[in-house]
Amino acid sequence: MSQTQSANDAVDTLSNTERTYNFSAGPAVLPEEVLRQAQRDLWDIDGTGIGVLEHSHRDATIDRVFEEAEKGCRELAGIGDDHAVLFLSGGACQQFAMLAMNFLTPGRTGDYLVTGNWARTARSYADSYGSTHAAYDGTDCVFDHVPAPEEISYSDDPVYVHYCSNNTIYGTSYAEPPRTEAPLIADMSSEMFSRPWDYSAHAMTYACAQKNLGPAGGSCVIISRELLERTNQGLPKIFRYEDHVAKGSRLNTPPVFTVYMMGLAFRWISEQGGVDQMASRNREKAGLIYDAIDGSDGFWIPHARKDSRSMMNINFRTSDPELDKRFIQEAHEHGMSALKGHRSVGGMRASVYNAFPRQGCVQLAEMMREFARTNG
Ligand SMILES: *Cc1c(COP(=O)(O)O)cnc(C)c1O
Repeated sequence: MSQTQSANDAVDTLSNTERTYNFSAGPAVLPEEVLRQAQRDLWDIDGTGIGVLEHSHRDATIDRVFEEAEKGCRELAGIGDDHAVLFLSGGACQQFAMLAMNFLTPGRTGDYLVTGNWARTARSYADSYGSTHAAYDGTDCVFDHVPAPEEISYSDDPVYVHYCSNNTIYGTSYAEPPRTEAPLIADMSSEMFSRPWDYSAHAMTYACAQKNLGPAGGSCVIISRELLERTNQGLPKIFRYEDHVAKGSRLNTPPVFTVYMMGLAFRWISEQGGVDQMASRNREKAGLIYDAIDGSDGFWIPHARKDSRSMMNINFRTSDPELDKRFIQEAHEHGMSALKGHRSVGGMRASVYNAFPRQGCVQLAEMMREFARTNG
């Protein structure tokens, strides 16, 4: 078999209709076009005769990959020169620690809006580094909503305010960023570029790749140059944002493949019509499932309060954990996988990120109606 022929065979995989509907919260579904492009580039990228995994991170091909990823990110985020874009190794938890190390100045306090497990973890990572304050804590209502302005009480002059825009585990999200004068930092891991968001108004936004942007192993970080000037001194270079900015995200060997995949995902989003188009699609897709919940006469119990519903992660259950189990099993038999909710909430969770096909939402909603009819 010639080299070209075997490369073509690699691309000739199952079409999307033959794939399983993957409701996983992360790592999660990726756009079919992106996966097919990656299959080709794994063999030979840009006609170099070398695959994307095999190039030096300092050669011209990977320069191009990084430049395109940054350009795509800037376009979707709508940010200018006063923000830097970084692609860093490690996931969102690494950012929980790094942002505290860099910006939680001795003697100052970082404020956290605790709206779920991740938001709480972000705070606990910062706790081991400096002083924090929970400006909101939704533990008592099992994180069924994000706070209204009157539920938030900031500390005096916080060094930053950190929030999680979409709570992956509880299926809640903010309609708009919380209001504050302090530098605003958002963990957008499970929704970056799923809807319009005012990135330029944030001191920092970040997302691990494996929810909505690409494979695991790296994060996309958008950070204002003003915030960068306030970096704590004395940190090892590898943990300092400024040093990563100075070296164009290649201070050391970065997760090249993850960055390459994020670049393709950004291009795919643009080609689909950008974040506005993503948002209207996502709203419609999630709406199909929420309609099945709302139209079930209480058979399906949603976790999130209506005013805080996420378009990315949808949590629901019945009144009987045994029925939930059966639903998950039957869904699996019908080609819908990974619907089991996080252990801290139970029930079901349907994660329907940008790349999740609409037809999968149609199919799930149909099955939910049928299941409610026969078991209600
Ligand atoms: C998944 C997730 C994280 C954790 O990401 P890691 O890459 O595993 O560190 C943090 N925050 C949110 C909102 C997430 O969805």
